[in-house]
Amino acid sequence: MNINLAIIQGAKVLKDNFIKNPYLDSEILLTHVIDKDRKYILTNSKKDLDKEYLNTFQILIKERSIGKPIAYLTNKKFFWKSEFTLSDDVLIPRPDTELVIEKILDLTKYKKKLNILEIGVGSGCILLSILKERKSFYGTGIDISKSCLKISKLNAIKLKVSSKLKLYKSNVDKFTLGKYDLIVSNPPYIKNLNLKYLEKDVARFEPKLALDGGLDGLSEIRKVIKKSSELIKKNGKFVLEIGFDQKNKVITLLKKEGFYINSINKDLANNDRCVVCTKI
Ligand code: GLN
Repeated sequence: MNINLAIIQGAKVLKDNFIKNPYLDSEILLTHVIDKDRKYILTNSKKDLDKEYLNTFQILIKERSIGKPIAYLTNKKFFWKSEFTLSDDVLIPRPDTELVIEKILDLTKYKKKLNILEIGVGSGCILLSILKERKSFYGTGIDISKSCLKISKLNAIKLKVSSKLKLYKSNVDKFTLGKYDLIVSNPPYIKNLNLKYLEKDVARFEPKLALDGGLDGLSEIRKVIKKSSELIKKNGKFVLEIGFDQKNKVITLLKKEGFYINSINKDLANNDRCVVCTKI
């Protein structure tokens, strides 16, 4: 079967299963299987596809047709300025989270040397993007999940920042190492009962550990704020991603722990998403 026909057939399977962008997804999966770019596919559409490739492609189409996200099928996702390796155990980097990067880069424009901590490092997309942009900064990342740490280590090597990075497997409550100029976190913040209402692809395939914020959605945020107030230097900055309806409650929690709120920033969908504050 030639490349063009394989893509069309794949797209038909996806369409029959109500996948939103069937043709595009089919094309992405095929380029992934044969490890070529889109241009190759366009200029070689009549070329015959090896049987092995076709088999692998059809398996991926099947997985996509039950909703498994493309990023988990290709094991990669572009975020900020780099491509990150993924596994099923890490949350897929979100475009909205790029707002966190923008804010941190704004805050650190004129800083020479900073010690940054990320609580819940996941794929590493936040911390590693910052370390890549700011060559003289140091980073520490903690996560409760060993598989996440494996992935963030891999990404650190890929982005060539591993010499400036330390990773620890730790629960947020138990971590007591160091003092930091800047702390960042995108903790799980979805209300437990709302998890099942997330988009199907998210709810069925992304790690609950990275999403589940307990009964009121704030149980991890509370721990992260408390721990950050202990580990941050005086006048240090704390940057936190929050759920669209958590602004007021989070402000109250932050003030109680001695933070001054600098700004609440809206994401691409105009939802309150990123809090920037200072330890006073
Ligand atoms: N923004 C993510 C979502 O809506 C949630 C990420 C998180 O809980 N930290 O799926």
